Amino acid sequence: MIFTMRPDVYFSNISRRSHNHCLGSLLEKCGDHFSEFRDGAIVGIKMTIGDEKSTANLKPELVRLLVEKLKSQSAKPFVFDTNVIYKGQRQNSVDHLNLAYRKGFTQDNLGCPYIIADSVFGTDSLSVKVAFKNLKEIKVPSLIKAMDNLIVLSHITGHIMSGYAASLKNVAMGMASRAGKQMQHSSLKPTINIANCALCGGCIESCPVSAISENSGKAFINPNICIGCGECIASCKSDGVNINWREESNIFAEKKAEYACGILSRIKKKVFMNFAIDITEECDCISGDDPRYIDDAGIFLSDDILAVDKACYDVLTKKTDYFSRNGKIKAHLHEFRYAYEIGLGSLDYNLIKI
Ligand code: SF4
Ligand code: SF4
Repeated sequence: MIFTMRPDVYFSNISRRSHNHCLGSLLEKCGDHFSEFRDGAIVGIKMTIGDEKSTANLKPELVRLLVEKLKSQSAKPFVFDTNVIYKGQRQNSVDHLNLAYRKGFTQDNLGCPYIIADSVFGTDSLSVKVAFKNLKEIKVPSLIKAMDNLIVLSHITGHIMSGYAASLKNVAMGMASRAGKQMQHSSLKPTINIANCALCGGCIESCPVSAISENSGKAFINPNICIGCGECIASCKSDGVNINWREESNIFAEKKAEYACGILSRIKKKVFMNFAIDITEECDCISGDDPRYIDDAGIFLSDDILAVDKACYDVLTKKTDYFSRNGKIKAHLHEFRYAYEIGLGSLDYNLIKI
């Protein structure tokens, strides 16, 4: 289905206001978008707490404003995420929940539970039939198949593979099971840049499937073992890991769009909110206490996932295309086009400033 109507995207400009104030205005003005979330409805709020060292992720106090709004309508919200394929504190639910506690995502601070959707070891993974160019099935936790009400909160960042990360990435990767995440990454098989590799061992240590070994004094990636997770790219400080950005990152972008489409087509009521605040060059999985990449813009809201991502992108790149890293990574532009072609949403929109 190709979208012909222009959906509304609401934009609460930060303009020297606090993040809480900016969100409060948006929730007040866009009350209609939440009107169906009431009277005992269980509502999943998808977000990520970021990894241990990330400080730019959305804060529990901000999420609580939305939780309180939903509770005031007698809805029953819960915040959720899934386990990741990267090494770190979010590979299983025990470490993940302990990290959430350390970062303040407690019931007291959120006003509702924080749960991990895909079980302790990330093995809750059901196959769902789809019919796209790249994928004929997607793999999601059973919760996703049963869910009727969804609000997606996405922290806007750059991204090492696609340049720009927003709601589409949050849904495609963040609502897939670990097996589903690996399906999306599988075409991204990096190679070692021998001239730059200093054999520090960083990538060898970070690879979750032991696909990297030492060979003649350099690192070597076995493409038959590699699952394309990209962890080695993030771990190398010497520009020693190459990806074929032009071809493979486009397939990665298409698979993400297909996942998002497959997931969202099953869920009845959806709202997407993009937080263009504390924007870092890398996503919350690998950013640390990084300098902010772009000035805060504000918070965007829409029922249309593609429109909200594109509107946010357009506002942020009005002067410069920050997310293209000097023209190196254009995958997000391909992602927009392809997502539109397969009917995920609209690239056109009415921007309503609040
Ligand atoms: S992290 Fe980079 S420099 Fe270190 S071994 Fe791997 S490719 Fe070589
Ligand atoms: S070699 Fe492949 S599986 Fe290993 S970290 Fe790199 S991308 Fe991931």
